[in-house]
Amino acid sequence: MCRHLAWLGTERTLADVVVDPRFGLMRQSWAPRRQRHGRINADGFGVGWYAPAVRPEPARYRRAVPMWTDASFASFAGAVASGCVLAAVRDATVGMPIEESATAPFAHGSLLLSHNGRVDTGILTALLAGRPDAPTPDSRCDSALLAALVWERALAGAELAEAVAEVVTTVGAKAATREAARDADGQAPPTRLNVLVTDGHQIVGTTWNETLWYRLGPTGVLVASEPDDDTVDVPDGAVGVPDGAGSSRGRETAMLQLPASPGGAPFPSAVADAAVQPGPGPDVWVEVPNHRLLVADTREVTLSNLTL
Ligand code: GLN
Repeated sequence: MCRHLAWLGTERTLADVVVDPRFGLMRQSWAPRRQRHGRINADGFGVGWYAPAVRPEPARYRRAVPMWTDASFASFAGAVASGCVLAAVRDATVGMPIEESATAPFAHGSLLLSHNGRVDTGILTALLAGRPDAPTPDSRCDSALLAALVWERALAGAELAEAVAEVVTTVGAKAATREAARDADGQAPPTRLNVLVTDGHQIVGTTWNETLWYRLGPTGVLVASEPDDDTVDVPDGAVGVPDGAGSSRGRETAMLQLPASPGGAPFPSAVADAAVQPGPGPDVWVEVPNHRLLVADTREVTLSNLTL
């Protein structure tokens, strides 16, 4: 598995977002604390950031080497600042190519995407075959195929959150069917579909069998696979994410508001259960329960159930 993050708010240097935090993405590349699958993220890394005064498309820097070995990144990370950054460190899934083009973030127009997880590529190629308008994936890596499915939905006019929810639930449903069929043999590695996407104005994320946290404060919102400091008292290696949609009612936090929508549920495949509830105040790390769609901007974070 990988670790990823997205920052949206005041301008911060890439080093401030990615490198400097004590338990930040740099450290997570060699010592993640809450990763459920895999122990080290040394197969590559990538950072995407926006410079809206220059152009709507983000810049990207990706390498198929461990983040800690890249002196070039270290040389400019403290000199580049942005109000929207999406970054990832990679632990390649078995069978996936280790190359720059298989490394997140994937990009299309103004969008950036990272995938923390694994998906049977047969499911993804079958879905792509039915969507001829999908852009050609950058790589045969599962994450690149998944990104192409999201780009296709966005090109078809879907809102970003809708596109992500639709792709994740569609892929998740197909994977669940296959896994149920294979379960008898005990050969069903679980599909994991934690996706993080941004267009420079909002962050959309999913939890699907991996960890995700967010922190909304006065200067912006950080969404990350795990907290980048030690303000959350969880022992190393311990993971507290409950499995199963709806299993954590009452654990949703303050600052959560569902957008008003004529249809009731905010997105076709997301069920509105994350109403405003009392909880920790702003600027603390909040864990996102499993099978959720997160939509964040600098003012609020909304969570909805993802249903198959
Ligand atoms: N399956 C993706 C890859 O191979 C993501 C891996 C991960 O989340 N560790 O890159």
